[in-house]
Amino acid sequence: MVLQGCGPLKQEEPPAPLAKRLHPGFDISPADFISLIGALPEEIKIRAASRPEYFLELAKKVLEGPEDLLRPVDKTRALPEGYEPKDLVPLKNYPLKLNRSNLTLRAAVLPDLLAMAEAARQGGTALVLSSTYRSYTYQKTIYERNVRNMGNEAADRESAAPGRSQHQLGTAIDFGSITDDFTGTPMEKWLRENAGKYGFSLSYPKGYEEITGYRHESWHYRYIGRHAAEMEREFFGGIQHYLLEFFHNQREYLTRKIAVQ
Ligand SMILES: [Zn+2]
Repeated sequence: MVLQGCGPLKQEEPPAPLAKRLHPGFDISPADFISLIGALPEEIKIRAASRPEYFLELAKKVLEGPEDLLRPVDKTRALPEGYEPKDLVPLKNYPLKLNRSNLTLRAAVLPDLLAMAEAARQGGTALVLSSTYRSYTYQKTIYERNVRNMGNEAADRESAAPGRSQHQLGTAIDFGSITDDFTGTPMEKWLRENAGKYGFSLSYPKGYEEITGYRHESWHYRYIGRHAAEMEREFFGGIQHYLLEFFHNQREYLTRKIAVQ
């Protein structure tokens, strides 16, 4: 007996996109994934390629969070003069140790900051917040004072020009002394080991001055959210700059590829 229609049907068979998906949340095939991660530094690419499903799972959670938590602000990308977060909250109303009573941060940072401070306290380390949100105008004052005292080149290395500081985002925190003496203190060690669990990321790690544009600052953390911090740790070698670049370049593509089903 001859089976009817097998031959021609086989040739007209449509591609099966679902079977090619690496993650149920994205319409991304293995080949798409290779080009998605293509521009990343080699060691990050290797990590991502070895666990694409986990990479995309975290990427999906990051995309569900607020976009501005990952906004790149650095020597080449400035915030506008008028940029001021709408949800700044005075920190003095919370159980936090502050070096100045007028410190503020974005409300989005508060729940994880309070959880982190509590965990540190229970572990015997008090976290001291020394500098948080800084307005464009305030940053301008600091920068211009540094230029007067040390010249343009040193001022650029030591401080950010107005509009180019993460502090204007309202999600960055300087802890402790804000000097190199902070490195190796119990507070610095605690943060180095634990801050990521609460969504905080070291912005200017040692050995990455060329990439970040700033010298190593062991006291400067930026809140990026827990999923982004996990992704930074698991795939991006703890380098915030690479993570921010990745989402800056690929957010639109990833959003377009979110699977509709
Ligand atoms: Zn700082």
